[in-house]
Amino acid sequence: MAPRAQYPVTLVSRQQLTKSTFQLNFELDPDLLDFVPGQFIQLLFEFEGEQCKRSYSVANSPENFRQTGQLQIALACVEDGKASQCFAAASPGDTFNLSGPFGMLVLPEDFPRRIILAGTGTGVAPYRAMLPSLQKKLDDGIHLSILMGARHRRDLFYEEDFQHVADSYEHASFIRCLSRESNISAGEHHGYVQSYFEQLGLNPTRDLIYLCGTPGMIDDAVNLLQEAGFGARQVKREKYVFSGH
Ligand SMILES: Cc1cc2nc3c(=O)[nH]c(=O)nc-3n(C[C@H](O)[C@H](O)[C@H](O)COP(=O)(O)OP(=O)(O)OC[C@H]3O[C@@H](n4cnc5c(N)ncnc54)[C@H](O)[C@@H]3O)c2cc1C
Repeated sequence: MAPRAQYPVTLVSRQQLTKSTFQLNFELDPDLLDFVPGQFIQLLFEFEGEQCKRSYSVANSPENFRQTGQLQIALACVEDGKASQCFAAASPGDTFNLSGPFGMLVLPEDFPRRIILAGTGTGVAPYRAMLPSLQKKLDDGIHLSILMGARHRRDLFYEEDFQHVADSYEHASFIRCLSRESNISAGEHHGYVQSYFEQLGLNPTRDLIYLCGTPGMIDDAVNLLQEAGFGARQVKREKYVFSGH
């Protein structure tokens, strides 16, 4: 198989989203990368003389990418992580190589009655990229629930984008699932994203469920969904496994 094309990208800016998560904005000719919302790219970088490669979901929509010429990713830093250190230290103007797009966590051609998007941490990034497409479908009458999992309120980001959609459509909701906050307000749930499922009245004949983020959440959620009668085609998932080399 021919190797995937690589494109040089230039870091334009870095925005802090939470204490340990930042958004990277890369300049790239929109004609070079034709991605579908929900897909991921791979960034190639050098760390202490070693060539490394890491995967990141695209956090902005293709429409936004075309308008701005900038591709956004959200990176949650892990301690001693190679990409975490490399991109935390990178400066505007630094160049990297990018390949992609990859991945099947994309919206269906035929929409079901309801879509449920569950993500932990940066696992909500692909859902943010989907928002313009989802808004068109909400106009057509689909129902949408977005669940964002984090430990604390301070770990949330991109909230305003999801809340804006929830506020604009009668059949859209956005729930913050906070595992380590005990005082819960409206629009919040105390617990993991998968522990909110029972409040959604899940129905395998009507719902399509997306899971993205930590492998633990995805494994737990898949078990719960299988017990609720969901088959493999009704659950789409993207595990943020780490490669470590
Ligand atoms: C399809 C796909 C999409 C992804 N999209 C994103 C994304 O949009 N945003 C994002 O931030 N990440 C995403 N990831 C994860 C990302 O590719 C890297 O694995 C992550 O950024 C850590 O890379 P690193 O080089 O900093 O750490 P590494 O150098 O790979 O790891 C260093 C050490 O940190 C620990 N570690 C690494 N990752 C984790 C973790 N997640 N949890 C706990 N411990 C860990 C391990 O002990 C590891 O040995 C995605 C992964 C996949 C497979």
